Amino acid sequence: MNKDNLEKFRSLIEVRIDEINKKLGVDDIETKPIAPDVAIGRLSRMDSMQMQQMALDSIRRQKSELQNLRNALTRIDKGTYGNCGLCRKPIAEARLEAQLDAVLCINCAR
Ligand SMILES: [Zn+2]
Repeated sequence: MNKDNLEKFRSLIEVRIDEINKKLGVDDIETKPIAPDVAIGRLSRMDSMQMQQMALDSIRRQKSELQNLRNALTRIDKGTYGNCGLCRKPIAEARLEAQLDAVLCINCAR
């Protein structure tokens, strides 16, 4: 990938990292432990526990995406970003735009 494109993807990745960081900051407030006296009755406590579980799953996914995006930035620095990790061929730019942290080309990802 040429330098201009690498820089374009670098800024796209940095914007995405910012977005996730902001979102994670907000979500932290929503996932504080549920006080037993907040929920009225068993069912609503179950509901809030389920919602908390979903929020935690979403945080976990976002944190792993964050890690993948940071790895992608490292690959940009090393000059290996945009090359398939298996066949070493360039990954299509449209694919990278849809998934900034893609490490495999469409053929190898299948
Ligand atoms: Zn490949």
